[in-house]
Amino acid sequence: MPTDRFGRDINYLRLSVIDHCNLRCVYCMPLRGLRFTPTEELLTAAELEKVVRAAVSVGFRKFRLTGGEPTLRADLLEIVERMHRVPGVDDLGITTNGILLPELAEPLRQAGLSRINIHVDSLNPERLKRVMRFGSFPQIWAGIEAAQAAGFSPIKINAVVVRDFNEHDVVDMARLTIERPWHVRFIELMPLGGGECARLSLSQYVPNPETRQRIEEALGPLVEMPQVSRSDEARNFRFENAEGVVGFISPVSEPYCGDCNRMRLTSDGKFHLCLLNDDELDVKAALRNGGGEAAVARILLAAVAQKPTGHRLEQGVSTERRAMFQIGG
Ligand code: SAM
Ligand code: SF4
Repeated sequence: MPTDRFGRDINYLRLSVIDHCNLRCVYCMPLRGLRFTPTEELLTAAELEKVVRAAVSVGFRKFRLTGGEPTLRADLLEIVERMHRVPGVDDLGITTNGILLPELAEPLRQAGLSRINIHVDSLNPERLKRVMRFGSFPQIWAGIEAAQAAGFSPIKINAVVVRDFNEHDVVDMARLTIERPWHVRFIELMPLGGGECARLSLSQYVPNPETRQRIEEALGPLVEMPQVSRSDEARNFRFENAEGVVGFISPVSEPYCGDCNRMRLTSDGKFHLCLLNDDELDVKAALRNGGGEAAVARILLAAVAQKPTGHRLEQGVSTERRAMFQIGG
């Protein structure tokens, strides 16, 4: 397994396969001024497979497709099939807003996908519309049900908590875990990309200790669960006798950089070394100049070797040249 200069084992690759999205969450994508990567500049399914084969050859085992909205890739099933066939891919997940899952959940399962995380910020249709802007609550809920019917387990639900938009909705969302074996995870806002979404992410930030307090005041104490893996970004809790799990992902109030095991691939083919820094290494140029798996593996190992640690959010420093939808979270 590749180890970086801070002694961290890096074995998890998140691949952003597209930067388009069918939603416009207030903290992620502005309504105007967006420029998307042209289709011919996105890595093809065959190129993505080559990156995954190279990653496995140097010890990566865990992979996740993200975006933008990964379900907008017309060849998503082919991508999943190709990745699933690579020996050594032990864990293959997707992060999605769920809108297209009613059609895709079952075929994705058949293609070899093992995990689904679904992003929904509120159970209240009006407030969901305000924060995620396009799409609707019934559509996303149908997506969650489709994922469950297709047999994905556990279903993980991600909610970003945004002051004056949905900070009170966390109680209803946490309540879901009492009777369902779902993981409902609350994510702190991070400012990325320097534009209006980054400004909103700073001004509407809600620390997770506040979210936890709100939930416990309404629903009773949460009991912390033992950590299964050091690199799990969530701290996990349960209500007594509950079926599911309440998780807190707190990159700002409780940074977990020391346990980071991730490398990221942007939709336009760069290894992005740390979510909250700008450092990148180009891999698409090598792929398009005839480079094979060995060339990709060399770039990936260089990316691991140069991976920084410790973000500087508290000093107001973050990724400036990339927005979240280009990196994939
Ligand atoms: N479209 C998919 C989705 O929403 O799950 C995948 C891509 S999205 C960029 C991945 C994750 O990033 C989502 O869980 C989303 O909530 C999160 N996210 C986006 N912008 C964020 C921000 N400014 N701060 C924290 N999380 C953010
Ligand atoms: Fe789209 Fe996901 Fe960004 Fe929302 S968070 S705009 S669903 S990419």
